Amino acid sequence: MSQRRFNELRGEDVVYAVQRQARTFLPSADYCPLCPTRPGHPPTEIPFPSFEIVVFDNLFPTFEAPQGAAEVVVYTDDHYGSFATLAPERAEALMWVWRQRYEELAARADIEYVLIFENRGVEVGTTLHHPHGQIYGFPFEPPVIALERAADARLGGCATCTLLERELASAERVVHENDAVVAYVPFAARWPYETHVVLREHRASLSECTADELERLSSALQHVTRGFDRLFGRPFPYIMVLHQAPSDGGRAGHLHVEFYPPLRTADKLKYLAGCEQGAGTFIMDVLPEASANALRGAIANGS
Ligand SMILES: [Zn+2]
Ligand SMILES: [Zn+2]
Ligand SMILES: [Zn+2]
Repeated sequence: MSQRRFNELRGEDVVYAVQRQARTFLPSADYCPLCPTRPGHPPTEIPFPSFEIVVFDNLFPTFEAPQGAAEVVVYTDDHYGSFATLAPERAEALMWVWRQRYEELAARADIEYVLIFENRGVEVGTTLHHPHGQIYGFPFEPPVIALERAADARLGGCATCTLLERELASAERVVHENDAVVAYVPFAARWPYETHVVLREHRASLSECTADELERLSSALQHVTRGFDRLFGRPFPYIMVLHQAPSDGGRAGHLHVEFYPPLRTADKLKYLAGCEQGAGTFIMDVLPEASANALRGAIANGS
């Protein structure tokens, strides 16, 4: 069981999940625990010879009942590829899996916030290459979510609605859009290719989306991630997170997906160093308008 301590100077919780130190670290494809269990081969964590999408409890959980949850979502039984290369129907099915997990976890009394995310690439600390994401059921409200709520209060309404309106008005940083979803590099991005993928309508969570909106969301996410891979002609590492309403059943929150990619060039990483870690101020080498322009081109190239 993890331990939680309050860090007074930061005013935030730190979680100690010491059992995670022993987790599987970058196994070869032959020993991948997320591959199907195939006849004549050692058993994996998934006891089926083939599958579409599988969700199971993380064997090395950061949170576990009765104080939260940690789940693994395996996108495909194909060891190779990524979210970007899934068949469109599979990517769309994943939206419905996310929605089902969100609803089930959000309904639990011990869970305050459901965070759906994916760490892609060794640069952001992934320990398994097989295409997969994760879901954490937080037993408390995480600080980033509290910051977004504070932004709502500061802007006197839904911050995501206000920012989307501003981005659409200038359109300089919009990299992709369809009739339900807009993707843009935010005005004050903290990563060179930070990208937000936002529902045009105020939808508090996946649960409020229509079937059409979920399809458009999966399409936009695939356009963006394929554009990322084309940008430098290499698999593009990223952290992808879904922000949506907390588990209190209210409408506070506006479903959006944030990408934090660590690359600033094909082979240079953006590090969080003295200024970012010690002062909390991000210093960027590129303007969001310039990176949006490059990313827009890379996305359009494949469409
Ligand atoms: Zn695998
Ligand atoms: Zn909104
Ligand atoms: Zn957000």
